[in-house]
Amino acid sequence: MCFGVRDAIALALDHAADGPLTILGDLVHNPNVLTALEAKGIVVANDVADVKTPTVMITAHGTSGRTLARTRARGLDVVEATCPLVHVAHRAVAALAREGYHLVIVGQRDHVEVRGLTGDLDCFDVVLDDKDVLALEERPRIGVASQTTQAIEKVRHLVELIRQRFPRSEVRFIDTVCKPTKDRQSAAVEMARQADVVIVVGGRSSNNTRELVNTCARYCTRVHHVQTDADVRPEWLQAAEVVGLTAGTSTPDDVIDRVEARIYICAGASAGQVSQLR
Ligand code: SF4
Repeated sequence: MCFGVRDAIALALDHAADGPLTILGDLVHNPNVLTALEAKGIVVANDVADVKTPTVMITAHGTSGRTLARTRARGLDVVEATCPLVHVAHRAVAALAREGYHLVIVGQRDHVEVRGLTGDLDCFDVVLDDKDVLALEERPRIGVASQTTQAIEKVRHLVELIRQRFPRSEVRFIDTVCKPTKDRQSAAVEMARQADVVIVVGGRSSNNTRELVNTCARYCTRVHHVQTDADVRPEWLQAAEVVGLTAGTSTPDDVIDRVEARIYICAGASAGQVSQLR
């Protein structure tokens, strides 16, 4: 787990010990973590209108200044669990907007972090692939930043494409992909190159988990995304000598440990051929 997710969970548990707490949206995109928080009496609401407790927590993904102001205007105490590296991305977006750039965010349009990054902008675009870049309009000044959990190679590729498509525009890129994401992506590439099979552990709606799956799939043809150990299938491991194991930044250690144990059991049951686990 990255420090941003770890700190957000610790903050939620601290505040839950002092009184009722509602988290606005998923604190992290991991069903196991969410179940553990619910067991402590923490409620999740998707809309501020549904909050019934006096205290509400903003998730590690952050939110816009406008949403914060709306939440406080309802008389709610706001606890911010926004990751400091998401704050860095917010500051980059605000600086580009202040300097008159038209903002293009690389990310998933409906992801809570992207909604937070764009929530204070009146005019912006969100792109995720080449097709989205081809649909952009020409602007004299384009400022590009990204969701913190995007793969940096993909972000650089899209920035380059924007530059090629609009040679007359001034294009300024601020790299807001967080370091834990970059580290994990480069370690995953190294691992996937050596593995016959790769298993990626993480929530279905976790963006950085999905990005890990996509990255590994470029270097290994047998990549599987699992949420828990129960998802691991023995047939995936047939004739595999090296199995790679990695996980999204919001995956708890105990979930990864159980997947690792299940891989060894399945490998023994199928062919006993897993000789290394990295
Ligand atoms: S993935 Fe990066 S930005 Fe998101 S919580 Fe973790 S460290 Fe922060």
